[in-house]
Amino acid sequence: MPATADRLKNVSISASAAMTQRARELAAQGIKVVSLSSGEPDFPTPPHAIEAAYAAALAGDTKYPTMDGTPAMKAAIIRKFKRENNLTYEPNQIVVSGGGKQVIFNAVLATCNPGDEVVIPAPSWVSYADIVKFAGGVPVSVPCPENAGFKLRAEDLEAAITPRTKWLFLNFPNNPTGAACSRAEMAAIAEVMLRHPHVWILTDDIYEHLVYDDFEFCTIAEVEPRLYDRVLTMNGVSKAYAMTGWRLGYCGGPKDLIAAISNVNGQNSGGTSTLTQAAAVAALDGPQDLLKERSSIYKTRRDYVLGRLAEIEGLRAHKPEGAFYIFPNMSELIGKTTKGGRKIETDVDFVMGLVEEHHVATVQGAAYGMSPYFRISYATSMEMLEEGCNRIAEYCKNMK
Ligand code: PMP
Repeated sequence: MPATADRLKNVSISASAAMTQRARELAAQGIKVVSLSSGEPDFPTPPHAIEAAYAAALAGDTKYPTMDGTPAMKAAIIRKFKRENNLTYEPNQIVVSGGGKQVIFNAVLATCNPGDEVVIPAPSWVSYADIVKFAGGVPVSVPCPENAGFKLRAEDLEAAITPRTKWLFLNFPNNPTGAACSRAEMAAIAEVMLRHPHVWILTDDIYEHLVYDDFEFCTIAEVEPRLYDRVLTMNGVSKAYAMTGWRLGYCGGPKDLIAAISNVNGQNSGGTSTLTQAAAVAALDGPQDLLKERSSIYKTRRDYVLGRLAEIEGLRAHKPEGAFYIFPNMSELIGKTTKGGRKIETDVDFVMGLVEEHHVATVQGAAYGMSPYFRISYATSMEMLEEGCNRIAEYCKNMK
């Protein structure tokens, strides 16, 4: 047999995708599964975005796109960065890709030589480390412990940086913890980075609009303008506008870095779908009320789930500032046995027991690099959340 490439050896399939798959299999057997594992808004794409894609298709906007983004898309992104983040970019400082994921992939491929280190605050989105490994880089995990509110502490960041560090990745509001950084907390991170001019910073702001209780989102290039030339500000339409299936993400950054990313982007895709770009322009330029409306619905759900978790003996959940995840600690349940006879030794055992015995899909903390925790996504209806919480409560209550 011809062999696949060595670079795939360290790359795993995403644990949240694996859990979503297991939930689908159970559902296909006719079992009523409560899926709290998917990091995807349950809301529909705004109709004006869909209409813009349809109009673009009818108008003949169906030819190969400009590789790094249509002029209209770049202009809408430049307006968005100015309006929402007070960041100024020129068109040659923007690249549009097929999702935030592809932006990160391209950025890492464009910059990391074998052995280059990427500092990743943990827990973190599963794909960061895999993408870095794919490029031959070395992910360096820096724990953001629960007692620090799952935030990155300046001293831990300082200790993680070496002469081989190429990037620091930031993702606040965070997947999987929901933790977000205040301006002061971001300024403390920025201060460390000012001392290390050989390191680029990628800020994954995909959950920017999902913050609660009047929390104010901030992004590092705006908090510390002296870092502007080293920051790649990444965002997308997936989470804010419920456009996960359209596949569009974008970034703004220094010209030379953007040219390198654009080069990779041009080789691994012929550019993002013209219809998707038309829809995304409408989403970014259109009415923004839906962001507040949806964020207030997410807040109600967050508070509901937190309230229910607080009543469950053996679980402890930190209150997140944003995103649509809760990351409860389940250490007190370690050593117990479930009603179905499963011994709980790890968070993997916990989530497997939960999906097999009570048909609730969640994801183990281990997948994000921090145990013993599990991730609940509350991007689903109140009805599902209520049923899911009932089942989690029953599962934990019956452990001996
Ligand atoms: N970053 C984070 C932190 C995410 O959670 C996700 C989606 N799960 C992405 C990026 C990818 O988003 P996109 O759909 O834009 O590729």
